[in-house]
Amino acid sequence: MPGKMAMVDFNKCNPASCANGVCAAAQACPRKLLVQENPREPPMTNPALCRACGDCVRACPHNAISIMQF
Ligand code: SF4
Ligand code: SF4
Repeated sequence: MPGKMAMVDFNKCNPASCANGVCAAAQACPRKLLVQENPREPPMTNPALCRACGDCVRACPHNAISIMQF
């Protein structure tokens, strides 16, 4: 069954430039699916539970997140 999920482009993601190294996209996800284990690290997504709402896409100042179809 086709679905959609958020993907992080690690070439664009620059957590050091986000406020205090905290991922704005991770904070924006209503389901808390983007997990940033430590400040200044890129977030990891959870494709199984992502609902492709796009909140994380809009929150990222570097356009590092996109919604992919699979
Ligand atoms: S995904 Fe975007 S908001 Fe999150 S750490 Fe990377 S650049 Fe910052
Ligand atoms: S698209 Fe929505 S549900 Fe999926 S990771 Fe981003 S904010 Fe969370």
